[in-house]
Amino acid sequence: MLRLTELRLPLDHSPDALAKAICDRLAITPEQLEHFSIFRRGHDARRRDAIRLVYTLDCTVSDEAAVLARYREVNPKDPHVQPTPDMAWHAPVADGAALAARPGYQRPVVVGAGPCGFMAALILARMGLRPLLLERGKVVRERTVDTFALWRRSELNPESNVQFGEGGAGTFSDGKLYSQVRDPRFLGRKVLEEFVKAGAPEDILYLAHPHIGTFRLVSMVEHIRREVEEAGGEYRFQSRVEDLLLDPATRQVRGLRLADGEVIETSHVIMAVGHSARDTFAMLQAQGVAMQAKPFSIGVRIEHPQSVIDLAQFGACAGNSLLGAAEYRLVHHASNGRGVYSFCMCPGGTVVAATSEEGRVVTNGMSQYSRAERNANSGIVVELRPGQDYPDDPLAGMAYQRHWEQQAFVAGGGDYRAPAQRIEDFLAGRPSVSLGTVVPSYKPGVTPTDLATCLPDFVVEALREALPKFDRKLRGYAMGDAVMTGVETRTSSPIRVTRGEDGQSTNTPGLYPAGEGAGYAGGILSASMDGIRVAEVVAQALAGLPAQL
Ligand code: FAD
Repeated sequence: MLRLTELRLPLDHSPDALAKAICDRLAITPEQLEHFSIFRRGHDARRRDAIRLVYTLDCTVSDEAAVLARYREVNPKDPHVQPTPDMAWHAPVADGAALAARPGYQRPVVVGAGPCGFMAALILARMGLRPLLLERGKVVRERTVDTFALWRRSELNPESNVQFGEGGAGTFSDGKLYSQVRDPRFLGRKVLEEFVKAGAPEDILYLAHPHIGTFRLVSMVEHIRREVEEAGGEYRFQSRVEDLLLDPATRQVRGLRLADGEVIETSHVIMAVGHSARDTFAMLQAQGVAMQAKPFSIGVRIEHPQSVIDLAQFGACAGNSLLGAAEYRLVHHASNGRGVYSFCMCPGGTVVAATSEEGRVVTNGMSQYSRAERNANSGIVVELRPGQDYPDDPLAGMAYQRHWEQQAFVAGGGDYRAPAQRIEDFLAGRPSVSLGTVVPSYKPGVTPTDLATCLPDFVVEALREALPKFDRKLRGYAMGDAVMTGVETRTSSPIRVTRGEDGQSTNTPGLYPAGEGAGYAGGILSASMDGIRVAEVVAQALAGLPAQL
């Protein structure tokens, strides 16, 4: 098969234009083109009056070798026609079931049922290694009820919320599934294929910026759980890991202690607890596990009418079903030396209350697959630096997050409403006393106020500089009535739990720090990919094979 990249066609091209474009590119007759499929479809909207669809296509042609040789002869420097790479995933351990049947076999334990944890469990289970997955929160349907209790009635359950429970932090999200990480082994493809098998929409396999939306994510994680169980794995909910049991001489992992006192013996633990497991990080530090402070960012969520973003991005093509609700990505380097950037943009979505701790307010965003809500929202966040903004101690970033989340709780009125401000007021340095035409979507509600009371001064300064600059790139962005809601603190983990090439903690053998919380992923797709990689090295270690991430 041949892979053709960068094949550009007008937005309104006819269905048969693709086959013709392939034949033109390869200089073949229609009869020579036996079959083709779309591997990826994106769009280039840099010129709003001439938006193009950009395709990557896989084609089967007769006499492929000759067609490729002739193409290379005529276009020696063109990289856009290549043999389609082998994207299949191969299990590193073939006889896992036999291994697991040996007397004295100890199951590997995965802590955390987020994308990293459930994907690691799925891979281990498929290899026959019978993993045990421990999750502090509840099964996803019960968790949904608890999450809605905060959004509707201001009742927070610190163990079952937007951050904690089956599916992990991304369950109530836009479900964006793309990542910038290098992926020479096509693990991202493997993740997307597993998600589709578990009920995600098929278009995630070919859209350049795929998303699932929260509703379908819920049933997808249930389906993955069933797959893990059918393959011999086990899930346990409301099972918070509170301690790590180590050999006093070698620091080799011997087991885990749960909150109810139960001890689970194991010598292989995948720690995929996400970026909000602050108590677990404190426990790991108390146990002497090697970790470092890691930079992260804080800022606000901003909401505009989706129609303003669609018009700015797509002009007269706004509303075209192939383009969907418009996204954006913005970056500004502020004169105080800070990077300001858009984060986790959710077209046609809602801003959500995302705290996992009492007395704190945290924002984030989510949407449904249709992305049909009235507002577009995005985090607009500013880079922080450990050692400059707070002490260079592994847990200091967490304390810094807590401080600003608490300030936001107070500024919001002390009942989980979030502090909010119109852009015009924020830029003018005055508190908002009321909001305008943009109706904020955050539940349980917002309090118009001054966001400068719950953000560091240098963040406020950088945001005030960046917003008018963003308006030059995206017309209407600094519209007076756009609403800013705070605070956005859980952008990534403030910690890295260091691991070596074999995936194990650098000073605690048998502990495999993984996913976003350990500092090795940022988002659903990259966390899932890390789950696969870590499951592979755990399987290799169990089988006595050399293991390398
Ligand atoms: P998590 O998903 O955080 O999972 C960790 C799990 O570990 C949790 O379920 C937690 O309950 C459990 N746990 C923690 N401590 C313990 C313990 N001691 N014992 C047992 N279990 C424990 N990313 C995207 O790519 N696209 C998006 O559209 C997107 N939108 C988001 C919207 C929201 C509202 C939020 C909060 C996040 C969003 N993200 C999005 C980020 C994404 O959710 C995370 O990057 C991803 O979930 C990280 O996966 P993970 O498995 O590493 O950790």
